[in-house]
Amino acid sequence: MKRAGKYAVLGLAVAAAASVPRIGQAPAPAAALSPERSEICVTGAAPHAHDGAAHSQARVRQGARVAEPGSRVSARVAEQVERELDRQKITGKLLRATGDKKWIHVPVRFHVLHNGTKGKLTKKALKEQIKVLDAAYQGRKGGVDTRINFYLKQITWTKNKNWFKQPRRYEKAFKKKLRRGGDSTLNIYTADLGTELLGWASMPWDYKKNPVLDGLVIHHGSLPGGKIKDYDLGYTAVHEVGHWLGLYHTFGRNYPDQDGCAAGDLVGDTPSQKEPTEGCPKNAPDSCPAWGRDPIHNFMDYAHDKCMTEFTRGQAERMRNAWARYRP
Ligand SMILES: [Zn+2]
Repeated sequence: MKRAGKYAVLGLAVAAAASVPRIGQAPAPAAALSPERSEICVTGAAPHAHDGAAHSQARVRQGARVAEPGSRVSARVAEQVERELDRQKITGKLLRATGDKKWIHVPVRFHVLHNGTKGKLTKKALKEQIKVLDAAYQGRKGGVDTRINFYLKQITWTKNKNWFKQPRRYEKAFKKKLRRGGDSTLNIYTADLGTELLGWASMPWDYKKNPVLDGLVIHHGSLPGGKIKDYDLGYTAVHEVGHWLGLYHTFGRNYPDQDGCAAGDLVGDTPSQKEPTEGCPKNAPDSCPAWGRDPIHNFMDYAHDKCMTEFTRGQAERMRNAWARYRP
């Protein structure tokens, strides 16, 4: 399937790639955002009910024209986040990716929305999803071991055809009713996200302002053994959890006209990338002047599930650092 048109994926107009600190270097100053990008609006998204405060990142299928359901993220917040994370490096509160004995244990509460016939996931499927999360985050697919593990805490099943069929519209309602736990509890809602969108997630720094919206919404067909061709290995949850733990997309392009090479993910060891990857290319292109071929196997790109294998050490450190700061 060819991409049908431009699509926008909300992220942050983060610092230019050149200012991203490399491993072992001092952090770059956080205020590298150009003022004209101080507020980013996603285009192409259908109107929906929520106020957009907490959504930040999402995953769409190949060929999708929709934007993710977030609406606005201010550069002010992005800068603030980088300052806070940098401060941790200075004060030594950083959780390192390797050589750090501290495990992060994440309780997972699944909330299965269904209409009585569709979407009624089994406990077995949810357990499989946990296994996929553990394998991905513990480096068993090829990347680094982030020393983050997940365990099943609760499952709820809710029959509500509106919630199931229009999760963007009713997000606030079902989260208000179903969400449990504090800032370190991962609430995952499954529903019918339509034909283009695979999932979306809140970022860790959103929690304080809007705890009810914290968590992931993913397509019920994206779980391991699900019905969405090429996206049926459970890596939508892996990708969205990456956002939930503080990662941006590797392609760094946050709206249609933005230069993906200049925008970055603020991780030093992921090469810059101009566009999201489609499908599963044999060879990685080298789309940006900066070092390295496109990270087409990274969980924070958009390739098919079978193509995804890794988080980098820099990503692991960013997630662990964000955890220590926002979800301790
Ligand atoms: Zn995403």
